[in-house]
Amino acid sequence: MDDISQGIDSVSISDGGIAAAVACDMSTSKKEDMNSEKKCTSCKQNLDNVKTNEVEIDASANDMIESICVNCGKEGAKNTCNKCKQVKYCNAACKKRHRHKHKKDCEEHLKRVAELHDEKLFKQPQPKEDCPICFLCLPTYHKGWKYMACCGKIICSGCIHAPVYDDQGNKVDNQKCPFCRTPYRKTEEKERELKRVEANDPLAINTLGCDYRDGTKRHRDYTKALELFHRAGELGYTEAYTSIGSLYFNGKGVKVDEKKALHYFERAAIAGDVYARYNLGISEEDTGNFDRAVKHLMIAVRSGDNCSLEEIKRIYSDGHATKDDYTKSLRLYQEYLGEVKSRQRDEAAAFDQDYKYID
Ligand SMILES: [Zn+2]
Ligand SMILES: [Zn+2]
Ligand SMILES: [Zn+2]
Ligand SMILES: [Zn+2]
Repeated sequence: MDDISQGIDSVSISDGGIAAAVACDMSTSKKEDMNSEKKCTSCKQNLDNVKTNEVEIDASANDMIESICVNCGKEGAKNTCNKCKQVKYCNAACKKRHRHKHKKDCEEHLKRVAELHDEKLFKQPQPKEDCPICFLCLPTYHKGWKYMACCGKIICSGCIHAPVYDDQGNKVDNQKCPFCRTPYRKTEEKERELKRVEANDPLAINTLGCDYRDGTKRHRDYTKALELFHRAGELGYTEAYTSIGSLYFNGKGVKVDEKKALHYFERAAIAGDVYARYNLGISEEDTGNFDRAVKHLMIAVRSGDNCSLEEIKRIYSDGHATKDDYTKSLRLYQEYLGEVKSRQRDEAAAFDQDYKYID
């Protein structure tokens, strides 16, 4: 009994939501394993019976343990501790009687959950990919780059607007994708976008979501936008969560819900979105948590965000951050710039190498 309950604790001690997912994954994979074992051709019937029984015993044993009241030990307890959701009680009376015994465990559990959450939240994410033309790290803000539906590439604004010259050196007004050279045609662009959306390209889905949100290329529809952002996020384009967060924060198409907004900003920030990271910093600043604000902004600065650098400077001049914080932020920004420059050098060297080969 002790062993089993320890096992449950060790699963559930991590971050609440994730713990549930892990526990769920474990049980599915376990069941899948059993199913695959059942496929034995020679003794199928027997295996089926044995394994099915085991699954049933496992499941009912788990149910039994999970439904025992930690106060009186009776089975069938359905009332859960509202704070940690880790222990069950028959009723409010049992909960109240057990409160003084459970209080310490409950607080420790919540503290550990918060610690693990912060560990994940304040980790420096991987740098963003480079522009495939100039090999500079893509700008951190969304307006600094454009998604091209022709080739599915993200191109930096600098390369999009770079002037094009003909053989005689005259500037030409050729409206072509700077990467794949497909001519821009507004009518075709919409069609291309939709084709990519149908093919489940998360970037195209996100772009379509932005079109609906901004009412630029399509009639404004926040509900559709939200749906598309969720789809893009689920398909791996985690920056779409920043857009979802903003809709909740500003109450567009949904009721204002700051808690939900922050939840989505966190998801996006963990995946490396500096806009979401900046928002989290500002939100912590607004509630007077300057330590956490600086921590968030510092991560954004290391990813190349100069707005966050400005913000740290402002917090420092208001007396809510130390001089060390400000110096550190400057150093991190220099580190980021140095990295970009060295990447440029590497790419230029690689290009020279290729060129020599062709010659
Ligand atoms: Zn009870
Ligand atoms: Zn509790
Ligand atoms: Zn570029
Ligand atoms: Zn293209």
